[in-house]
Amino acid sequence: MENNQSTGLLFEIAKPGRRCHTLPPSGVPSATLDACFTRQAPPPLPEVAELDLVRHFTNLSARNMAIDCNFYPLGSCTMKYNPKRHERLVGLPGLATLHPLQPDQTTQGMLAILYETQAMLAEIAGLHACSLQPAAGAQGELSALLVAAAYFRHRGENRTRVLVPDSAHGTNPASAAIAGFDSVTIKSGEDGLVDLADLESKLDERTAVFMITNPNTLGLFDHQILEITLKVHDKGGLVYLDGANMNAILGITRPGDFGADMMHYNVHKTFTGPHGAGGPGSGPIAVRDMLEPFLPSPVVTRDPDGTFRLKHDRPLSIGRVRSFFGNVGVLVRGWLYLRTLGPDGVRQVSEQAVLNANYLLALLKDHIEVPKGKGCMHEFVASAKALRREKRVSAMDIAKRLLDKGYHSPTVYFPLVVAEALMIEPTETESQETLDQFAATLISVLGEDPAVLHESPHELSISRPDEVAATKQPVLRWKSA
Ligand SMILES: *Cc1c(COP(=O)(O)O)cnc(C)c1O
Repeated sequence: MENNQSTGLLFEIAKPGRRCHTLPPSGVPSATLDACFTRQAPPPLPEVAELDLVRHFTNLSARNMAIDCNFYPLGSCTMKYNPKRHERLVGLPGLATLHPLQPDQTTQGMLAILYETQAMLAEIAGLHACSLQPAAGAQGELSALLVAAAYFRHRGENRTRVLVPDSAHGTNPASAAIAGFDSVTIKSGEDGLVDLADLESKLDERTAVFMITNPNTLGLFDHQILEITLKVHDKGGLVYLDGANMNAILGITRPGDFGADMMHYNVHKTFTGPHGAGGPGSGPIAVRDMLEPFLPSPVVTRDPDGTFRLKHDRPLSIGRVRSFFGNVGVLVRGWLYLRTLGPDGVRQVSEQAVLNANYLLALLKDHIEVPKGKGCMHEFVASAKALRREKRVSAMDIAKRLLDKGYHSPTVYFPLVVAEALMIEPTETESQETLDQFAATLISVLGEDPAVLHESPHELSISRPDEVAATKQPVLRWKSA
């Protein structure tokens, strides 16, 4: 039950004179400020009492779907549990109150954490060096492609193309274009993997980078990966791994070992940074030795006497890609996670994530088509194509109805290579009971009256917002009439 007073905006429940606070009388003489510092009228802030304010925000927060309240099988996004211990530790004053402009001598603890994080991420990647700066996976892609461009420029090679499979995340071709490359699409074969013939026909000395997501967005590990990386290297190109699916292979295989020359991590996905609704993220990149000089500056280094430093003097570096040192709050959570789990625990994360996804796949695949569903890695992609044809029920209808049932919806309409896609990623942190209940609920939704599904969700405060308008013409501020 919601409190009626709090369904409106704060401005709408405001009453002149209401206050959340009282200030004691001033004990110092008042001074007159120069006119340029003073306002003519007080700012138009809503005037509310503390209780109304608390109810307003508490009720608003309860309208959210959140990993702490709901199962959240949002494929590709890896919505795993965010340990509460991390929140307590990252909030310790020695970490949370640092200023990024403090001299290095006064931030040795933080620099030690970042140095270790660089080393652990490079080790998990099977690569040599790491930059923690990029603020999200997409920025990691862009940074790594700028590193590749700088590398080829340094070698005097003019390579203009980046090859991207058609199952890739939209950020891959977008990053290629922003980095100044022409993005060329590589087809997937019937099996959902890279079509080798198509790759070969487009691979030549114009190729700078081949970007691959492995396991890919269909939840399949491309077993041709060694052959692919050999072919790309043969033409002098670099292989980039989109590491958004690292949750499936941590400690089991390493991108560097299967031929990737650079990659990004999504620390917020794979290593438990709380995310959703656009941030905060962290997208470190790891690279092979010959690319290291081009990484963004600064990087954290360690002197022989154990002193940590931010090293800025790196003449071949592409420069800064983010202010200060990246989103250190997310990085510290990732460090805590890795230090807590250790190498065996990290591997167990992926084993359990893959087991959970295959368990859910086995429960569902007789009830909804899963086109490449013989088995999967940490996620799989179902298709509502037949339902759409037979009952005019779309992936969107199913996703919206699941909200009524208390589940965040799977990712829909991605990857683009599957019609009416529902991309399901349970993650390793869910129990068997949760997976059983979700499967039973989804199966019951699939059998519901199409009319009910078309109108869903029925039980939430908003039903079907105009998503295009919300993206193209967002109204982000309140204006008095
Ligand atoms: C999430 C994701 C990205 C982009 O990462 P952000 O951290 O959201 O910028 C890229 N590729 C894949 C496959 C992803 O799932």
